[in-house]
Parts: sequence; C-alpha cells; structure tokens
Amino acid sequence: MTGLQEERTTDGLRALAEQAGRDLEDASALEILRWAAAAFGPRLCVTSSMEDAVVAHLASRALPGVDVVFLDTGYHFEETIGTRDAVEAVMDVNVLTLTPLRTVAEQDAEHGPRLHDRDPDLCCALRKVEPLERGLRGYTAWATGLRRDESPTRAGTPVVGWDDKRRKVKISPIARWTQDDVDAYVAEHGVLTNPLLTDGYASVGCAPCTRRVLRGEDARAGRWAGRGKTECGLHG
Ligand code: SF4
Repeated sequence: MTGLQEERTTDGLRALAEQAGRDLEDASALEILRWAAAAFGPRLCVTSSMEDAVVAHLASRALPGVDVVFLDTGYHFEETIGTRDAVEAVMDVNVLTLTPLRTVAEQDAEHGPRLHDRDPDLCCALRKVEPLERGLRGYTAWATGLRRDESPTRAGTPVVGWDDKRRKVKISPIARWTQDDVDAYVAEHGVLTNPLLTDGYASVGCAPCTRRVLRGEDARAGRWAGRGKTECGLHG
C-alpha cells in the first residue's frame, strides 16, 4: 500500500491533516487531491450526493478508479439516481452505494410515516449519518464537495482538515471555489451534473426535504426550508 497512513497514529494523522490544510490552502483542487492520493492511496474515498460529479471527476484524475461513496437514503429524486448510474457508467471511478439499516417502509413502521417532517434530525441520523459512518470505516481519508460560499455554516471549511467525530482526514478540494468555478469546470470537462440543477434547484438532497430556490437565496436555502435545519449531520 502506498502512503503514510500505515505508520501514523491518530494524533499523527491529525497533525498531518492540519499541516496539509495550511500548506495546501492556495493549491489547486487537483493538487490537493494528488497529495491525498499519494498519502492515502486506496484508503481515500470521495463522497458524492450526485448533485454533480465535479469532485469525483477531479479525484479520478488524481487516483483512477477511486471509490465514490453514495448514500441512497430511499428518498432521492429519480434524477439523482440517474446521475449516480451515469457516473458509474462513464467515469473511471468505483461507485459504492450505501443504504440505511432500515428501508423507508421499515422506518415508517417503527417511527411512523414522514419522519422527515416530524423529526428530520432523527431521519438524517438513520438514513445518512449512520450509513456514512459505517461506509467510511475502511478509509483513512474522505473527500467532499463542500464549498465555503455555499452557506455561512461552511465558510470556515479547510481544504484539508481533521474530522474529529470520525477520526479521519477530511479533504474539501473545492472549498475555495465559487459556483462560477464549478460551472467552468463542468463546461471544460463535460462533467455530469444532476438535471435538477437546471430546473431551479441549487442544491439537491432528498425529495421531501428539497425545494427550488428563489432569486437571491443562498444555494442551500431550499434544503429543509421552514424546518430550522441547514445541515444533515454528515459535516457536523
Ligand atoms: Fe430524511 Fe430529509 Fe434527511 Fe433525507 S434529508 S434523510 S428525507 S430528513
């Protein structure tokens, strides 16, 4: 196995991540992912909501065949599942679809229907957070598509940091990008995007918890609108 992670303790990995976050602050997204590929090899994965395949595309250039983890909550738009299938078919990545421990029907039987309306934090914990934590167990580092300009809660996202909750290196190679940067990369490389992005949705999550955004709203305003919730817990 390539990389540094085998010899490193948790404290060593944390120090490595924090140092890399400082050293790579001004690096390009591809340089950040090439560093991660060299450091972690196959123990690096990408997580994708299939809003677009930008980070998966970048990661496949740094580490061909990289694992791309997708959480199938059972509540996705069909366009999102279609994007996942297209990414799997055309890109040099290994898509891994993770599912919750219970189907939607089983969850309804246990907690009552439409848990997402009554207790979205519990619904996200069961359908997103638990599967992600299970899925990340075999990895030392994970890469995400978080961007600082998406919302105030993401403004401090480091390009490389330490995920203390999961004790893993967390890489956000496009943290410094704007939406214009994303659009330019998509256009230049012909990257797959979710068709809902051209249908009024600026951020795509589960269907019951996502609406189109209005002019002037930030990109995540359409997520859990009116429920006092802005994050699903994957990045908290
Ligand atoms: Fe449940 Fe909504 Fe969270 Fe999806 S986004 S897991 S439907 S609360």
